[in-house]
Amino acid sequence: MTLLDGKKTSEAIQDEIAAEVAAIKAKGGKVPHLAAILVGNDGGSVTYVNNKVLACDRIGFGSSLIRYEDSVSEEELLNKIKELNEDPEVDGFIVQLPLPKHIDANKVLEAIDPKKDVDGFHPTNVGRMVAGLPAYLPATPAGILQLLKRYNIETKGKHCVVIGRSNIVGTPMSILMSKCTYPGEATVTICHRNTVDLAHHTRQADILIVAVGRPGLVTADMVKEGAVVIDVGTTRVPDETRKSGFRLRGDVDFDNVAEKCSYITPVPGGVGPLTIAMLMTNTLRAAKHEVYG
Ligand code: NAD
Repeated sequence: MTLLDGKKTSEAIQDEIAAEVAAIKAKGGKVPHLAAILVGNDGGSVTYVNNKVLACDRIGFGSSLIRYEDSVSEEELLNKIKELNEDPEVDGFIVQLPLPKHIDANKVLEAIDPKKDVDGFHPTNVGRMVAGLPAYLPATPAGILQLLKRYNIETKGKHCVVIGRSNIVGTPMSILMSKCTYPGEATVTICHRNTVDLAHHTRQADILIVAVGRPGLVTADMVKEGAVVIDVGTTRVPDETRKSGFRLRGDVDFDNVAEKCSYITPVPGGVGPLTIAMLMTNTLRAAKHEVYG
């Protein structure tokens, strides 16, 4: 069994980006700039956004963090998005989700100029991805593609089973794995909360990608011998031995499943670290006008 080391892969990608930024700077070009909008004080969201800003510093990007209280109005948020859309200094920006209930997240995402939508959540980028046109790919599925690629995992003709159909992970993942590019060319099954006999499907998977958020959902009896298992799940579970009071658990019963796999991602240290690397990749592509010309 080979462990798919997301931390190492993420560092390698970020080193490659840093080298490109250094070359851009040396030629006197514009340094890529990522802006992030954060609403409220949710612990998880604050950590995610801070990590994104730190990654920008590390690889030499410019960054700005725009924070609002939970009480911010939808109108104020939309005005800020309009401003960022028009700001030539900002190459790409993100609005950290989730947003408070009084704000329509779809309306907010649709207000972002697709050319600056480095999270790849705008319907234009989703549509372009489905059509096989250049697009910003959502970071988590793009990170999984990088893991498969950098470990030279064969995907052509394989049966890929994806559990979970969210707009940010499961759905784009299923589409990308079916595309006629590498990694891709797989036969894809997508499972969700109403799938009858989940184990029947997962046992047929050469590549099993799990994005649900239910710790230990996938047990050893649900996995085929030699399968590649990618665990996207990250659920905080209480852990008094940790300073933070919690630890992260994946959707896969790692200890028992790992023995049966050819490759498997750990949690933490698997898919998670790649998400930031792919956001940085999208920002670099935005600065280079690679996607929309
Ligand atoms: P979500 O919470 O929006 O949806 C969960 C999906 O799981 C739904 O499509 C639902 O139909 C399906 N589901 C629920 N119970 C099921 C069951 N018993 N059997 C089969 N399917 C079931 O999903 P999300 O936002 O994609 O997040 C999924 C998990 O991935 C969460 O733990 C989240 O924290 C994690 N996540 C991690 C990263 C990362 O590491 N970078 C990024 C995004 C999400």
